[in-house]
Amino acid sequence: MRAPRPRRELAAMTGYHSPQVDVRVRLNTNESPAPPPGGFSAALAERLARIDWNRYPSRSAEALRSAISGLHGVTQRNVFAANGSNEVIQTLLLAYAGSGRRVGLFTPTYALHGHIARVVGSDVVTAPRDAEFSVGAERAARFVAAEEPDVLFLCSPNNPTGTVDDPETLQACLAAVGGYGGLVVADEAYIQFASRQPGQASAVDLLAEDASLAVCRTFSKAWALAAVRLGYAVAPARIVEELHKAVLPYHLDALTQEVGLACLADAAAADRRAAAIVAERERLAAELATLPVRQWPSGANFVLFRPDGRDGAAVWRELVDRSVLVRDCSSWEGLSGCLRVTVGAPEENDLFLEALADVLA
Ligand SMILES: *Cc1c(COP(=O)(O)O)cnc(C)c1O
Repeated sequence: MRAPRPRRELAAMTGYHSPQVDVRVRLNTNESPAPPPGGFSAALAERLARIDWNRYPSRSAEALRSAISGLHGVTQRNVFAANGSNEVIQTLLLAYAGSGRRVGLFTPTYALHGHIARVVGSDVVTAPRDAEFSVGAERAARFVAAEEPDVLFLCSPNNPTGTVDDPETLQACLAAVGGYGGLVVADEAYIQFASRQPGQASAVDLLAEDASLAVCRTFSKAWALAAVRLGYAVAPARIVEELHKAVLPYHLDALTQEVGLACLADAAAADRRAAAIVAERERLAAELATLPVRQWPSGANFVLFRPDGRDGAAVWRELVDRSVLVRDCSSWEGLSGCLRVTVGAPEENDLFLEALADVLA
């Protein structure tokens, strides 16, 4: 008997890997160290008590999309909500890329952009970032003109480097894809940790009904809701309409919609949490500067660093031995020797810094 044959694209791939090790200090997946505020669970319980469990959820998720649209001064027709921004990205790729089309990335960047692109059957084309991990308007324009990707990802702040692109880079990408009908997807999973720096704007500011742009946001980071899968895109209404064709009907269940609404009722709490993380990130960066490591400026809730003259994977293991888990990026293309640490609670950051100083002594 012959085994069933997975699609050719999948046979060449490996799954998504982020080791979940049982340790005291978990600083490997860029989650919020603190849960949503105290009132959240009680407000949610009330909302859940009102769900009609025998009925399908709202297919258009109108209440949730309307609440999200209020954050950005757009209309509900400009918002597409889904199960994490990963499903937003998948839906964007199903609608605008798919089999035989091209998806462009600036590497190193978020692994799932390329991974999901391959799963939907697209060809992935890449351009390397410069030594500081910046893209830059000129490099972006040259790459887009040469490759004409149907979908171009621009991740800012970029995971795993923390790099924030200048607004000119996004403008250059938009101008370039406009020449042949491509789409720019700006992944802003970490934007709440960057927008506190003066002069740094969101791609949402460049949205207009004729823009070739979709901006992805998530509730997994600054909103402290990684346990629930909720993310969204802000985009021109005609793009949102296409996304609703590509996604499964009733994809966003009633629980997730209610969780989102309960969380959005206290947007100020998310802002306070983000401000506290930014302050801790600056402290962490200052402390790292006293250790024998190279680090890169971050606009996110993590810091990428490379221990001087040490094998990154060995340092990662020695940190795990001290019950501290960070992300080992040392074998990723363009990130030789690098580790990424999520900014945690102050006590967690202290334990990480102590362990790292000990490992590097
Ligand atoms: C964490 C992260 C996301 C979030 O994905 P969810 O599916 O919403 O949890 C999206 N993009 C980037 C770049 C990320 O690092």
